[in-house]
Amino acid sequence: MNNVSTYSKLVKRAPIGRRKAGVVVAASLIGCVVLAIGALGCGSSGGGDGSGKPKVLATFTVVADMIENVAGDRVEVASITKPGAEIHGYEPTPSDIANAESADLIFDNGLGLERWFDQFVERSGADRVTLSEGVEPIPIAGESEYAGKPNPHAWMSVGAADIYIENIRKALTELDPDGAAVYRRNAERYEKRLEKVREFVDRELGDLSQDQRVLVTCEGAFSYMAHDFGLEEAYLWPVNAEQEGTPQQIADVVDTVRERKVPAVFCESTVSDKAQKQVASESGAEFGGVLYVDSLSDADGPVPSYEALLRRDAETIVSGLTEGGSR
Ligand SMILES: [Zn+2]
Repeated sequence: MNNVSTYSKLVKRAPIGRRKAGVVVAASLIGCVVLAIGALGCGSSGGGDGSGKPKVLATFTVVADMIENVAGDRVEVASITKPGAEIHGYEPTPSDIANAESADLIFDNGLGLERWFDQFVERSGADRVTLSEGVEPIPIAGESEYAGKPNPHAWMSVGAADIYIENIRKALTELDPDGAAVYRRNAERYEKRLEKVREFVDRELGDLSQDQRVLVTCEGAFSYMAHDFGLEEAYLWPVNAEQEGTPQQIADVVDTVRERKVPAVFCESTVSDKAQKQVASESGAEFGGVLYVDSLSDADGPVPSYEALLRRDAETIVSGLTEGGSR
């Protein structure tokens, strides 16, 4: 597997970044101890759901699943955005804000992913933990207004995902010290399972020949996965924003697809595939199907978990680039 380098070589370990949006941590922890002595349970003060468990929120479903894997049944975990939602430019609802006010912690991805989040935590006053803290970002390529900014989709590297998991473990341990051993054990098991997924993806993608290693997507959301597995990437737009699928973007990708004889192009579940289907019809490539990046599916859909997402993407990419994909 000499064409495969794990992203973990590039990541630097750094202490978890935990920024306060208002309330002082020490004060809330003292309050927590007092409640615990009163046998009311720590962290339940904000939960309000009667379970007595701490309540945490994540900005999107992929990281909510990661948090659940580390938290086990000690913590209530929910995602602010729903499966299939567009997460970059999400507009929080009044009930999102109300919900966040009763959360003990909110996990965001950071790296500029959630453009709505700074304002959101300011209004809700919730404690914030940024999951990508410690990841060495890959800058966005090209000449758009986003060029040089960090690509936010770091969870698409399993090496970087280990950093997310460690940040989750530390934050949950701080929130609920009695669960420290459980969180450590869960995190270790989860990392081992993800390593198996990485090996699976590695095997799948490892069989692609050099000229099959061009991944064409709607958003430039695969830089970390491409880096891990030795793929070149081309995309219609760098980050989901206003400019999605302009005639110029379509023309540029059509050129690349023709030039590199790319057999299949893909688009992600949370955006319109219209422009990419136009690329397919103009270039003669197949539309290779739906990739999952910014959101899981519903529980009964194809990618109910982060692990399933990575596996499914690898299978879709390989089937597209070797057989022309599904029509
Ligand atoms: Zn995205």
